[in-house]
Amino acid sequence: VSASPRAPMGEFDLIAKWFTKPARRSPLGVGDDCALLAPRAGQQLAVSTDLLVEGRHFLSTVPADLLGHKSLAVNLSDLAACGAEPLAFTLSLAMPRVDSEFLEGFSSGLWTLADRFHVDLVGGDTTAGPLTIGITVFGEVPKGAALLRGGAQVGDDLWVSGTLGDARLALEAFRGRVSLSEAGFAQARRAMEQPQPRVELGLALRGLAHSAIDLSDGLLGDLGHVLARSRVGAVVDEALLPRSALLASQSSLMQRQCLLTGGDDYELLFSAAPQDAQRVLQAGQSCLTTVTRIGRVVADAGLIVRDAAGQALDLHGQRAFDHFAS
Ligand SMILES: [Mg+2]
Repeated sequence: VSASPRAPMGEFDLIAKWFTKPARRSPLGVGDDCALLAPRAGQQLAVSTDLLVEGRHFLSTVPADLLGHKSLAVNLSDLAACGAEPLAFTLSLAMPRVDSEFLEGFSSGLWTLADRFHVDLVGGDTTAGPLTIGITVFGEVPKGAALLRGGAQVGDDLWVSGTLGDARLALEAFRGRVSLSEAGFAQARRAMEQPQPRVELGLALRGLAHSAIDLSDGLLGDLGHVLARSRVGAVVDEALLPRSALLASQSSLMQRQCLLTGGDDYELLFSAAPQDAQRVLQAGQSCLTTVTRIGRVVADAGLIVRDAAGQALDLHGQRAFDHFAS
């Protein structure tokens, strides 16, 4: 199929111009009916998919390159949570019209992150429609080594990487519920628009963490998934939750909301045996990521979050970020 020079750019030209690069690790890149992936001997394929819809998952004001970055970052974050090494991804893109400026920015943000983790774009689809981005990522993990939600054990320490809540703080600023300095707003926006997938940490936690999940919908909800799958409970100390100086300067109510129900953090939440605490700290150091112990896994079902005075918070009415409700 070839379009005449004066015809509007079609699907095939668009893919050729912005979304085709030689595959580095996959036997076959974009352009055939199927992508072919060849996991190495003894490895399992880890697969995850995420759909981002304008107005629901991102604001129309977000610059295109940051959107390209985030679309892939949230998917790589899922591979990180499983301790999988990124291999390839597919991209499905619906957009109202072929907008060269948007595509230039979007693809550059996407490729910068793809290049950093050596992942190939191996296929996808484009169509006209409301701006919607669907990415499916494929990773490799040795058989039986994947980090899962269901492995938390009674007595485990609970850990999180990085800091929590800044992305939610940015959302609150956009909604006019909190006012930040220019520098503070820039920092919070960075957290929301440029999350860094903790791929290296996920790999370093293989054989060390008993369970893991990435924080996409907020600590309460995501920890809830781990506890339910693992059939255990947890006690978390609010004062231990790692936060930026920016968030720490907000009201205690705002801090609590951002830390517990924030969402969009894309940090890893994981559990490990207490005797492995030193190894966990070293794993964090080896990937230049802070890791912080926030609580403990207990036998009694349910989640208790204690305030600085040791009192259990009333979590009634606090819920995870729900894309059908919010
Ligand atoms: Mg996830």
